[in-house]
Amino acid sequence: MITYGRHSISRRDFKLIKRVLNSEWLTIGPMVDAFESKISNLIGAPTFVVTSGTAALHCAYAAIDIKAGDEIITPALTFVATQTTAMHFGAKIVFCDIDVKTRNIDPILAEKLITKKTKAITVVDYAGHPVDLEVFRKICDKYGIYLIEDAAHSVGSFYKGEPVGSQADLTVFSFFPTKNFTTGEGGAVSSRNQVLLDKARKFGRQGLVRDPEKFLLEPDGPWHQEVHKIGLNYRLPDILCALGISQISRLDIFKAKRKRIVEFYRNNLKDIEGLVLPEQADYVDPVWHLYPIRVKNSLRNELFHYLRNNGVLVQVNYVPAYYHPVFIELEYPKGLCPKTEEFYNEEISLPIHPNLSLKELKKVVNLIKKFFHAVKSM
Ligand SMILES: *Cc1c(COP(=O)(O)O)cnc(C)c1O
Repeated sequence: MITYGRHSISRRDFKLIKRVLNSEWLTIGPMVDAFESKISNLIGAPTFVVTSGTAALHCAYAAIDIKAGDEIITPALTFVATQTTAMHFGAKIVFCDIDVKTRNIDPILAEKLITKKTKAITVVDYAGHPVDLEVFRKICDKYGIYLIEDAAHSVGSFYKGEPVGSQADLTVFSFFPTKNFTTGEGGAVSSRNQVLLDKARKFGRQGLVRDPEKFLLEPDGPWHQEVHKIGLNYRLPDILCALGISQISRLDIFKAKRKRIVEFYRNNLKDIEGLVLPEQADYVDPVWHLYPIRVKNSLRNELFHYLRNNGVLVQVNYVPAYYHPVFIELEYPKGLCPKTEEFYNEEISLPIHPNLSLKELKKVVNLIKKFFHAVKSM
């Protein structure tokens, strides 16, 4: 099977993990700090690591003190963790449609959805293509709300020369195997705002306070530590941080490979009528996480099954979030975000990952050509 996304493991990955297994620290050890500083260097902002992108979102929402009834504006074209982690705090989700050119949340529509209850806009860099961050920054500053960036797809991407992770109030990453690099499960939160980052980190570290200057109780002894606010254990173990250190060192190679795949698809598919290939805005340098094509004339399902039946494990990203039964009680109507729904009805994610061979890519392209050739002659 040729899959739409897959991890790439090297000999160095094994070596570093083995070294940790033979060491004193399986968790809360030196690999955590080392991985965090590697990520910080890459994205240009202080960072801490957690057990998943979902955990990272949960920490980010904890940091902005969401209360029941607060509104979060998000796109529906995303994995539901973008929303469900805010719903844990009782947030009300306000869905905003996409701009079809970028596939990302539309800033003009988003601004119109802001009310007195809006706490944050959570943007998603769909397929690794950053949103227009300056525009969202301006909107959020104008209304005094937070900008959270779900960068699960876009670690390693740049916006106007600045790395993703350095610009939003809080940025969250995922290191799931299909993402741009992996720790198996894992994620991170970054922010240049030290107060926000500390709050997020504390939430992911059981809420523990170890700084004597911040103690509210008189310590009985040197074992003393305190919990002031509810937190959870989202620590990423050293074993996985070691994998991350090795993986992140190859991100540039992964990025270049993904770029070449995008060029290959563009060169070979651009003349097919009935296909819309993803465009890139001039203000971004993306790590292409997905290669989302749009299939016109209601042929998406047919092409999807044709590719799958021929050994190409394509995917559809995503079912609009508000279709999920978890939202049913909230009564979001069908048609709420028409451009998102149209995109969903037409989208297929073609294989894109560092280990794809030219032979496999040619197979994918030839199958698509064959499919459209058959359609044409019908
Ligand atoms: C993968 C993903 C997440 C969740 O990350 P996990 O590491 O799987 O928990 C959140 N948002 C988006 C857009 C994602 O693609």
